[in-house]
Amino acid sequence: MGFKIIAIDGPTGVGKSTIARQLAAKLDCLYVDTGAMFRCLAWSWAAHGCQESDESLEKLGDQTRIVFEHEKVICDDTDVTQEIRTERISAQASKISRFPLIREVMKKQQRSLVEEVRKSSSYRGAVLEGRDIGTVVFPAAEFKFYVDASPEIRAKRRLLQLQERGEGGNYEEILSALRKRDFQDQNRKMAPLKPADDAIIVDTGKLCADEVLKHLLNRVLNEKEVSQSGVQ
Ligand code: C5P
Repeated sequence: MGFKIIAIDGPTGVGKSTIARQLAAKLDCLYVDTGAMFRCLAWSWAAHGCQESDESLEKLGDQTRIVFEHEKVICDDTDVTQEIRTERISAQASKISRFPLIREVMKKQQRSLVEEVRKSSSYRGAVLEGRDIGTVVFPAAEFKFYVDASPEIRAKRRLLQLQERGEGGNYEEILSALRKRDFQDQNRKMAPLKPADDAIIVDTGKLCADEVLKHLLNRVLNEKEVSQSGVQ
C-alpha cells in the first residue's frame, strides 16, 4: 500500500479514538488525535486567561507546543494527558474550535505533521480522527469514514466508561453536555461537523468495537487488493 491518508470523523463520544488507534496500529500508520490538539489549545487558553482577541488567539495557536509521545500528550512541556479529558476542557475545546484563526493553525499543523511522516517514510500512512478531516483538512484523503451513533447510545457508553474508572456520573448530565457539543460542532460557520459527500458512513450503534474495526480494515485492505490487481 502506498502512503494513505485515512480520515475518521464523527461526533463526540462515538468511539473514534479507539477505532482510529487500532486501525493505525494494524496498518502501520501514524495515529493523529486532532481532538487532543484542540484540547491542548483549550488548556493553554484557560491557562493564559481566555482572551478572544485576534491577536491573542493567533499567539495561542502559534505558540502552543503540542507533542504526542507514545500514549502521552505534552503541551508546553507539561503532561496534560489526563487533564485535557475533563468536562471543563471538553467544553472549552468545543468553544475555541469555532474561531477561524484557531482552525487555520490546526489545519496547517495537521498537514505538516502528515507531510513530515510521508517524507520520512517512517509509516505507511496516517489515520487522523476529528471532525473536519475528510471535509477540510484532507479532502483528498484516500479513505474517509464518518462514524456515528445516537446521542443516547453515546451517553450510555460514556457513563459506563466513567463507572468502570470508578468516577461515576449522571446520564442526563452527560447526555445534555454531549448534545450541546454536537450542536456547537455541527453549527459553527467554519468547518462544521458533517460527513464528507464521499465518506463511508459507519453506524457504531449497532456494532461492537471489534466489528467496527473489522469493517474499516476490510474497506481499506480490499481497496488495496483492487488496485494491486489492477481491477477498478
Ligand atoms: O474529539 P474530541 O472530543 O477530543 O474533540 C474535542 C473538541 O475539539 C470537539 O468537541 C470539537 O469542537 C473540536 N474538534 C474540532 N475539529 C477536530 C477535532 C476536534 O473542531 N478536527
